Amino acid sequence: MRFLAFLDKNGQPALGVRLGDEVVDVTALGQPATLDELLARGPQALRSAHAVAEGATARLPLASLRLLPPVRNPSKAFAIGLNYVDHAAESQFDLPKHPVIFQRFPSSWVAHGEALIRPRVSERFDYEAELVAVIGKAGKYIPKERALEHVAGYSVFNDGSLRDYQTRSGQWLWGKNFDRSGGFGPEFVSADELPPGAVGLNIQCRLNGQVMQNANTRDMIFDVATLVSACSEGMELQPGDIIITGTPSGVGLARNPQVWMKPGDTCDIEVERVGVLSNHIEAE
Ligand code: ZN
Repeated sequence: MRFLAFLDKNGQPALGVRLGDEVVDVTALGQPATLDELLARGPQALRSAHAVAEGATARLPLASLRLLPPVRNPSKAFAIGLNYVDHAAESQFDLPKHPVIFQRFPSSWVAHGEALIRPRVSERFDYEAELVAVIGKAGKYIPKERALEHVAGYSVFNDGSLRDYQTRSGQWLWGKNFDRSGGFGPEFVSADELPPGAVGLNIQCRLNGQVMQNANTRDMIFDVATLVSACSEGMELQPGDIIITGTPSGVGLARNPQVWMKPGDTCDIEVERVGVLSNHIEAE
């Protein structure tokens, strides 16, 4: 099942089910207007919304739609640092013994097809290709063996980072949360469409078509189940919460010479079988 959020012809948020190159507006058929709300109704709600779409005759061409981020306002958006061995090495950090967890705010990300904004105060604007796990079932102190039962599906993220602000202090949060500096989408793919834990998927970043990062989700230090379990220690995860699972090597910061995203560039992040997230860059 593939869901996407978009603006309907009246400019209102709507939820769509993608069937090939076409999308059924299930909000127009009585379903919720956001994936956040649908996920809050439980796993069965995804299946019933999908069944509604399959029975519908009115379909919109995917290419005509202006998308929104798949999840709009998660109660928690965790991001994971240094979760691939090669990236930890290129960043000159020791391998973490526990997941490195920081936070991204919804104001810091845009949908597929929208512009990422390079702020006027920094040119050190870097890309990071990442898989996103979306929580479908609440839980606290979730054991690793049961963690994947709490994952409803997956998406793609560009964890756009202002490197000078990221390392200005011990906390990375500032450089990871500039307005409209990250990309999220294009769509939500239910977990049953992918291998358990989304393991074994190629993950790539292309800047203006040139491959900058090229790895596989099996190379994560902490897999999705471990991350869900860890993030739920002491914090109850809620449906719609997201975990942005970390980036592999090849970031612009670690290159010689360094590479930054500039106005006019296009950055594509692809996770095999999940989707291609494409954003162009504009100056603030
Ligand atoms: Zn990242």
